[in-house]
Amino acid sequence: MLIVTKFGGTSVGDADAIKRAASIITDLAKDSRVIVVVSAMAGVSDSLLDMVSGEKKDPAEIDSFIKSLGNKHLEAVDQSEIPDASNVTEKINKLLDNLRKDLEHLYCGSSETHEKYTILGYGEKLSATILTAVINARRPASCHFGDDNLIITDNYFRDASPIMPETEPAIRGTLLPVLENNVIPVITGYIGTTRDGRTTTLGRGSSDYIASVIGAVLDADEIQIWTDVDGVLTADPGIVPDARLLDRISYMEANELAYYGAKVLHPNTISPAVMKNIPIRIKNSTNPDSPGTLITDKVEVTPALPTAITSKKDVILIDVNSAAMVDAFGYLSRIFDVFRKFNVSVDMVSTTEISVSVTIDKFYTGKLEPVIEELGKIARVRVMKDKALICVIGEGLESAAGLTGRVFSAMGEMGVNIYCISMGALEMNVSFVVDLEVADDVIRTLHEMFFSKSD
Ligand code: ADP
Ligand code: MG
Repeated sequence: MLIVTKFGGTSVGDADAIKRAASIITDLAKDSRVIVVVSAMAGVSDSLLDMVSGEKKDPAEIDSFIKSLGNKHLEAVDQSEIPDASNVTEKINKLLDNLRKDLEHLYCGSSETHEKYTILGYGEKLSATILTAVINARRPASCHFGDDNLIITDNYFRDASPIMPETEPAIRGTLLPVLENNVIPVITGYIGTTRDGRTTTLGRGSSDYIASVIGAVLDADEIQIWTDVDGVLTADPGIVPDARLLDRISYMEANELAYYGAKVLHPNTISPAVMKNIPIRIKNSTNPDSPGTLITDKVEVTPALPTAITSKKDVILIDVNSAAMVDAFGYLSRIFDVFRKFNVSVDMVSTTEISVSVTIDKFYTGKLEPVIEELGKIARVRVMKDKALICVIGEGLESAAGLTGRVFSAMGEMGVNIYCISMGALEMNVSFVVDLEVADDVIRTLHEMFFSKSD
């Protein structure tokens, strides 16, 4: 058995979490070969992002930042019961020294933009160093963190994509010899490297994706995503506290959920696993006995019941409207060419005879002006901000003629304004746009309707 595991930020958030993660890993390693992908300790990526973003900062801030980052990591080392901790302390201090130099370089204004991504990668290097030491303290020489460049990416530094023909040999060449020696490789999540060795990031939450890429390349038996909830739930537990655990969902459902806002999985995680048909298991590192959620090819469906409800908050709705939409095909392609030209990705599309509505992430606000201008040459354009996309997802929807009716009559009863509706071609996703301010209430109402005990 080969298992690729990924531990998220809260699963290595402090010494107790790191010790729990180490126990999970050494338990698995008793009868499987194990690879570990690790995120930065919770909060660290955000604080690094804060240091490299926005206005030019005062170099005086570097000192206090390094101090508090050092305290956080050295405290975790102290409390992790590592017998000879001087070695790991030294490694942490070395990383902190390098980080300080990189920050100074950035703050004095002489660095290039891409150098900030090197800074963002320190969080994973720090956590990987500690986790490796804790595992080795329990099983000497059983674990290795080599800080190797495994994920070779393009030059989109913020949201880079792996270049598979180069990433595959890098993963095989680096990891197979380590596994061969019965050693557990620890790999930094979130970051990759360009062909010429510059650090990139694969986007927020992308450690899940990296685990999946590694699992697919090495034909792993399972990819395990260890996080802070029991698995994939019927809704975001932050919105619906009594959301239920889903013991099994399909790749397609997981993909839709991740894509439409369920933060528990990075949206790109599913596709590498699907290609090799590798099961993905979501598990709770604070409750390892819970069976978690298993994501596989096929699952039994409950007809006419959704699997989960999710939402993408803060989307912008753009309505392109023309009475003269005669040549429908040409019209659509002209509209989508505009989005493509400005590299704006569209989440949802809904069309009627005379209008096309799309939603885009609020992230694109800064790019909106030229998009609107070009669209304006084609038709009338209306932009509506502060909207949310609500998605009801499930393989069971295929046979659910009445479900859509139930959803929208519930919305009618709530007096909720629905801006547009879209049903996925695969009939496993009914999505619609509402005002951001009512989104959570809408989710709670739908959840109650579909998943309350009496249902
Ligand atoms: P990690 O740091 O382990 O990657 P994340 O914070 O990225 O963890 O993802 C886990 C979180 O996703 C949960 O704590 C939960 O609040 C949120 N979440 C949102 N929607 C769902 C859902 N449908 N099922 C489970 N968790 C969800
Ligand atoms: Mg995550």
